[in-house]
Amino acid sequence: MFLKRRKKNMAKNPFYNKGEHLVIYFKCEKCNETFRSHLRKYYDIAVDYGKGGSMYSLQKEYIGSKCHNRIQITAVFNRAFKPLTYEITGGSFIAEEDFEEKS
Ligand SMILES: [Zn+2]
Repeated sequence: MFLKRRKKNMAKNPFYNKGEHLVIYFKCEKCNETFRSHLRKYYDIAVDYGKGGSMYSLQKEYIGSKCHNRIQITAVFNRAFKPLTYEITGGSFIAEEDFEEKS
């Protein structure tokens, strides 16, 4: 049984808005390890007072368990937590469907 779902446009917005969190899925460009990260609104994604408090910004760094490659993610969001700009270095965003659970 294969359910067809409308695929999210990852190029436009790789952040999954799930209640209290934005969830991202990404993989290491060196070893293809996949990651899932729950970003807490107002905590990981903090108000950017430098811009009059009307935006949120995110700055995160991840290091996987398989290699020492650093993956850095930065983004700026509007008040509705939609990304205005974002950047990922050392890896790339993947869709939720492509995330592989480590068992
Ligand atoms: Zn890696």
